[in-house]
Amino acid sequence: MTKKIPKSRSLRKVFVKVPGNEVKVHFRERKEKKRACAECGKILPGMFRNSPGNSKPAKTKRKPSRPFGGILCSSCMRKKVQANVLKASGDSNA
Ligand SMILES: [Zn+2]
Repeated sequence: MTKKIPKSRSLRKVFVKVPGNEVKVHFRERKEKKRACAECGKILPGMFRNSPGNSKPAKTKRKPSRPFGGILCSSCMRKKVQANVLKASGDSNA
């Protein structure tokens, strides 16, 4: 991968004290944004935020395995599933 340019702010600035009592600026990668519900925009609780250097989250930190897990919050998922069921039953009756 190509090197990111420090001045572009795609990297975050970290002030690091180095030996010799000097403060230097190091550029490090930013952490991922918090995941939000695609319908209402509410922040999804318990969702893993990948930090640079990490690859695979622990089992307990992975997204929920239910339908729309990690995309919709639980209440939006419930509404969506109910709407789909009503739609399907309406089609079969007609
Ligand atoms: Zn939602």
